[in-house]
Amino acid sequence: MPGIMVDSYGRKVTGLRIALTSRCNLRCLYCHHEGEVQPNGEISDEMVIGVAQAAAALGVRSLKLTGGEPLLRQGLAGLIAHMPPQMKISLTTNGIYLAEQAESLARAGLGRVNVSLDSLKPEVYRNITGGREGDLERVLQGLDAAAEAGLLPIKLNVVVLKQNEAEIPAIIDFCREKDFIAQLIQLLDLSGRGLAGDIDAIEARLAAQADHIHTREMHRRKKYFLDGAEVEIVRPMDNTEFCANCNRLRVTSDGKIKPCLLRSDNLVQIDSCDCGRIEELLREANARREPYFKDISVR
Ligand code: SAM
Repeated sequence: MPGIMVDSYGRKVTGLRIALTSRCNLRCLYCHHEGEVQPNGEISDEMVIGVAQAAAALGVRSLKLTGGEPLLRQGLAGLIAHMPPQMKISLTTNGIYLAEQAESLARAGLGRVNVSLDSLKPEVYRNITGGREGDLERVLQGLDAAAEAGLLPIKLNVVVLKQNEAEIPAIIDFCREKDFIAQLIQLLDLSGRGLAGDIDAIEARLAAQADHIHTREMHRRKKYFLDGAEVEIVRPMDNTEFCANCNRLRVTSDGKIKPCLLRSDNLVQIDSCDCGRIEELLREANARREPYFKDISVR
């Protein structure tokens, strides 16, 4: 593909992840805030469109909208309608406001959603999401609305915690029944509070039960197929393969290009909404890309 960016480690950039706002209606116990140190702000519509167009010109074809909580962004459907037509657009959301918005977002050009849901037990869900607005019923309604609107395939993002590890088989059953993909995510335990569940034990059980195992190119993620359920494991921690196969750049909610989720010392400030200028800045960010976890034995 003409113009596609490849970094000095031979990794292509094919995906862009934009945090549309730093605001969130939940307070998840473990949240990494997409790697933003002091999340504050809201990138303008003009800048989001400029970045998406520049990225498209550089061969990026996959755009993930995130936050904060992206469904809090005013005029989200209008913004999505302005995205370059060649981009596949997906959204990561907590789903609380999805029932109201799914249809208009689909009409605007959103392709699919990831919905973050760590428990199917109302009290556990409320506790993990910090009380206040953590209403499981609304997320379940949002999931149904997303399916109805054709935002498929729907992935359920489940961070494996001590609080939900015993519930993982039930969550997989729920996904099988609803035809969702279960995405089990290893906790990046930035707080050091020991919240992580035992993803190794869960993966070992999946491996023993699977009818079929597939390794995705992205991050070398393993997918397990068992009795009609599809379960993907995402392991970002201490994972040289994850980094060696990373294909994305991020844009923070205050308009900086972020080459790596786990670093904040190499950001590139976006100082213009001009597509040509943003292309230059994306190239600069690509030049700063470096695997966070490296296999030092082969370097
Ligand atoms: N508010 C949206 C949501 O809930 O999906 C988007 C932002 S949230 C930061 C994006 C994803 O990051 C969610 O699926 C969440 O579970 C995951 N996440 C947040 N903190 C994490 C952590 N410390 N380790 C692993 N995944 C994390």
